[in-house]
Amino acid sequence: MKVEGHRKQVALFLVAVLLPAVVLVALTLRIVKQEKELTMKRVADERQRVAAEIGRDLTSRLDVLAREEASAIADEPARLARRDYRNPEVVLVARIDDARLFLPWEAGPETAASRPPENDSAYGRILRQAENAEFSSKNYAVAAARYLRAASAARLPVEEGYARLQRARALAKSKKEQESLSEYAKVLSLSPGVIDEYSIPLSFYAFEPLLRAGLMVPEAVARIGQQLADPAWLSPAGLYLMRDLVQQIIAASPAASGASVRSGAEEHLGKVLGRIQAVEQALRLKEDFPRLGLEPVPGPDLKKAGFLWVSYGQKPWLVGLTPEAPGEGNMLVAVDFQAFSSTLLSDADYSTGYPADVDLQAGLSADGTSLGPGLRGIHVAFASGGEQPFATQWSLPRLFYFLALAVVLSITLFGAYLLWRDVRREVLMVQMRSQFVSSVSHELKTPLTAIRMFAETLRLGRSKDPATQAEYLDTIINESERLTRLLNNVLDFSKIERGKRIYHPAPASLPEIVRAAARAMEYPLKQQGFEFEVRIDESLPEVCVDRDAIEQAVLNLLSNAMKYSNESRTVSLSVQRQGDSAVIEVVDRGVGIDPEYQAHLFEEFYRAPARENQSLPGTGLGLSLVAHITKAHGGSVRVESAPGRGSTFSIILPLKSES
Ligand code: ADP
Repeated sequence: MKVEGHRKQVALFLVAVLLPAVVLVALTLRIVKQEKELTMKRVADERQRVAAEIGRDLTSRLDVLAREEASAIADEPARLARRDYRNPEVVLVARIDDARLFLPWEAGPETAASRPPENDSAYGRILRQAENAEFSSKNYAVAAARYLRAASAARLPVEEGYARLQRARALAKSKKEQESLSEYAKVLSLSPGVIDEYSIPLSFYAFEPLLRAGLMVPEAVARIGQQLADPAWLSPAGLYLMRDLVQQIIAASPAASGASVRSGAEEHLGKVLGRIQAVEQALRLKEDFPRLGLEPVPGPDLKKAGFLWVSYGQKPWLVGLTPEAPGEGNMLVAVDFQAFSSTLLSDADYSTGYPADVDLQAGLSADGTSLGPGLRGIHVAFASGGEQPFATQWSLPRLFYFLALAVVLSITLFGAYLLWRDVRREVLMVQMRSQFVSSVSHELKTPLTAIRMFAETLRLGRSKDPATQAEYLDTIINESERLTRLLNNVLDFSKIERGKRIYHPAPASLPEIVRAAARAMEYPLKQQGFEFEVRIDESLPEVCVDRDAIEQAVLNLLSNAMKYSNESRTVSLSVQRQGDSAVIEVVDRGVGIDPEYQAHLFEEFYRAPARENQSLPGTGLGLSLVAHITKAHGGSVRVESAPGRGSTFSIILPLKSES
């Protein structure tokens, strides 16, 4: 029946506590997961928004650049051949003709810096005569003189420079070294804008002979500096030549001789290499241009399918087309990506804690957040901490969920613990009660058998000896008293359990109570050969106690002392004053009690699980009653014991008892 009850309890616990707890845990985990997903989605949406905003900003700024450059060239077409663009981020503006790209140095007729010598001009005629003298008649002196005339007849600086170069060569051929070199020196000082049809500055042709002669090296370095500062584009050929010249200067000038010349040249070399890189990128762009799918910048409300801006190249450029101007067509504009994006991000404010956390990157990325239509090859990279503001925003409810979960789980665990404790206690109780029933039956049977045996013997008159008869009668009385004590204990216990045990205190003398108990135990003790010592302090004042209850407590202690004495045969009983208390002490020299059991002695049904105890009958009620009685009198009970050495049980009662 009990086990049934436990099963019910466990089932109830499972249904009422565990099941909802499991459901709650599952729900909470689900909610937290959903919330996390939601947060991620929000972060993604927010990134998309920021990216689109940056995209719009980027396109509109690039469009402004493109329009500015376009209008600058419309105002002054010669600018097409120059690198000094309106905006410092712009690296290239190139003409588009018939869907083909024309790079600035690939000059059209209108921007040509030089023209082939015109046949009908004086310059052209003289130049041809000079060339005849040089190449056909091999008369170099005459040729040199004619070239000089051609130079003075020239109308353009480039014509003059060309004639002088020819003259310098003719002079060299006629072994007039000195004059030749001074002619080259004149060419060297031509202005940077004087370039031939291959976009090579004429002065560059004078470098070689001068450098070979070891002349004018510092001037040559300065001349290259001027060329680099000149806004005109140089062709790749011009740049390669310049690179070779600079390298030649560096190689020819030992570190000691002209440190400043050498370091100046090295500085120039870096710049020249940078320009070469840009020019080569422009050449590749020219080739790839038809495949880029660029569309000109539309009017404000026009959306086109193609790309407006595309990132291109190793050192990325943003490439786009200027708006179509009537009669002009459109031009290609390339912007340096690094310079442009850093200015864009530094003065923009994207209002969400960005742009501190964003960076623009060129190239296609795997998780690239698109910048919107019209842009290709650029994406926004978000610093990994980008979701931080959202994460903190969401951590509060999450914390709450986890807290609630923790509370529910701890309540469940606590409930489980209480249930386990109750069940265990009940199981123990059941065991104790069943043990109790068997021990009570056993304890009842022994005295009853004795009483019956002696009474029958007396009735049959088998013993005629009056002394023996008296002894039999004493035994009968003694056994009946033992029975009474046992029954009293059981009855009292049942009353206590029902809360019906009532004590009736009245003024009484403790010495008398103790003496009565001693008298009751004298006979059985003597019969078993005990030495029973009783010490009573007669001076003790009267106390207000339930006489029978106190006597019962003392009797319980005495019968325990007798029962657990083993071989020992001494028991002593005393009552004394100790301060404001009276102490009733029962001492034996018997089995004693292990300290680990002592704490439980006064619990109901408790019997110390020592080996010696197993053979002795007992109910486990005696000491619990002693404890109950003394407590009801405002006193206490104490035990001092050591296994094998005996025990001392003391009942301590207050002398000024109010009860
Ligand atoms: P019981 O009917 O078993 O004697 P009690 O409540 O009187 O029940 O005693 C509880 C337990 O305390 C006993 O089972 C015994 O183990 C231990 N005990 C009590 N008195 C003594 C004693 N004087 N010496 C040794 N053990 C004792």
